[in-house]
Amino acid sequence: MADSSRIYLSSPHMSGREQLYINEAFDQNWIAPLGPNVDNFERELAAYTGVEDAAAVSSGTAAIHLALRLLGVEAGDAVFCSSLTFIASANPILYQGAEPVFIDSEPDTWNMSPDALERAFSEAEVLPKAVIVVNLYGQSAKMDEIMAICDRYGVPVVEDAAESLGAEYKGKKSGSFGKFGVFSFNGNKIITTSGGGMLVSNDVKALRKARFLATQARDPAPYYQHSEAGYNYRMSNLLAGVGRAQLEVLDDRVGARRSVFNRYVEAFGEAVGFDFMPEMNGTKHNRWLTTLTIDPEKAGFTPMQLIDRLAEYNIEARPVWKPLHLQPLFEGVKYYSHTQEHSVSDELFEKGVCLPSGSNMTEEQQERVISVIQEMLERVKVSE
Ligand SMILES: *Cc1c(COP(=O)(O)O)cnc(C)c1O
Repeated sequence: MADSSRIYLSSPHMSGREQLYINEAFDQNWIAPLGPNVDNFERELAAYTGVEDAAAVSSGTAAIHLALRLLGVEAGDAVFCSSLTFIASANPILYQGAEPVFIDSEPDTWNMSPDALERAFSEAEVLPKAVIVVNLYGQSAKMDEIMAICDRYGVPVVEDAAESLGAEYKGKKSGSFGKFGVFSFNGNKIITTSGGGMLVSNDVKALRKARFLATQARDPAPYYQHSEAGYNYRMSNLLAGVGRAQLEVLDDRVGARRSVFNRYVEAFGEAVGFDFMPEMNGTKHNRWLTTLTIDPEKAGFTPMQLIDRLAEYNIEARPVWKPLHLQPLFEGVKYYSHTQEHSVSDELFEKGVCLPSGSNMTEEQQERVISVIQEMLERVKVSE
């Protein structure tokens, strides 16, 4: 049972209608993995995102893995990937025995730097098989610039939109730009099925192949016959029911997270040394997590001191993702920084903090977080 006095970074927020879809599945005895909830969830999410088709799978990681398989990524191939992200963006590269090359962020979106991407391409001895672009914390990357570069080199894009469901880029939904888009319904995401993911694309044929690979790659034969290696990656019909009810309230959840962000900005948007993650012009950030950088010289305390102080009050806050090029797992892997001299993701990791951002946070809970931070800011002022 979750601790009711603890304020979490992002906790599941049920709508109350999940049970209806689950009960329906029980009534029809559709407990078997696939079934009508899966089909409907796929259709509804594809319509929401504005793409031709969607395949429901067991996790966002599984969706990325399937995308790489469909793009023919094999042992020895290179795959370019955003560095500032959760490890799940890159683990599937390793599943395929391929080699990641990490690309830095740029300051406007904290996402993949088109300049660094261009340098990586121009210096590549062989072209990568795919580019994995992440939309961090619910902010779309600069998709026009990135797509233009990748199109010029003829390399397909996998858009890791696990954190950006409901966000927009120039009027189109985040996740609809790459050859494949990926969503996650893990417990801490903006909507959840407790665990699950979705692979989306305008290539209906490719998604048919994805469903085939995700169900052990079983050939059409009266007996069990298999000609290639597959996975057990499909979403269960029960969880898809949860997903359908969650999708109904997605826009409300985006609205609630954006207003949590706005409260923080009202409270200490002007604080010296505090810089909130920007929302780039022409995009809509879903504010999955409110993130900011703290300059210790100006603010008078470090990001870690803030995180520790919040922890004393049973409030969960975290540093931003540790860039993948700094992970022990990826020691020695190639990395292209934003400019030759400056790595943006290193700086964001050093200074970045994620604040509690759940759509189910009460006014009182937001007040609790704000007052702890305000007290820290006051104390610094007094001691000056
Ligand atoms: C959560 C997340 C994933 C993985 O999703 P799972 O459903 O947990 O496998 C991938 N990429 C990013 C950026 C994520 O935040």
